[in-house]
Amino acid sequence: MGRKFQRRIEDFTCEHCGHQVKGSGFTNHCPACLWSKHVDINPGDREELCHGLMEPVGVERQKDGYRIHFRCTRCGLERWNKSAPEDDFKALLRIARASAEG
Ligand SMILES: [Zn+2]
Ligand SMILES: [Zn+2]
Repeated sequence: MGRKFQRRIEDFTCEHCGHQVKGSGFTNHCPACLWSKHVDINPGDREELCHGLMEPVGVERQKDGYRIHFRCTRCGLERWNKSAPEDDFKALLRIARASAEG
């Protein structure tokens, strides 16, 4: 009681850079450093028990935006996720450049 705003979408603190992330309901990666967390088996289900940090290892340009290639630092699972409009574009470019250099 007493709290007017109950957000159903989850806010979280990025475990990689400490950024306070406002959950949009669509993304679970940090818009500042773009790191994610291995919490879904299927997108949005939060059923995964690994909970490892997922490193953004590549970026691919698509006609409607970008998608980010993640690799879990704990179990090694690789996954592609759509980039969100609020993602830091410089961070995206940095990852793209790093992956191009191999
Ligand atoms: Zn972050
Ligand atoms: Zn994992």
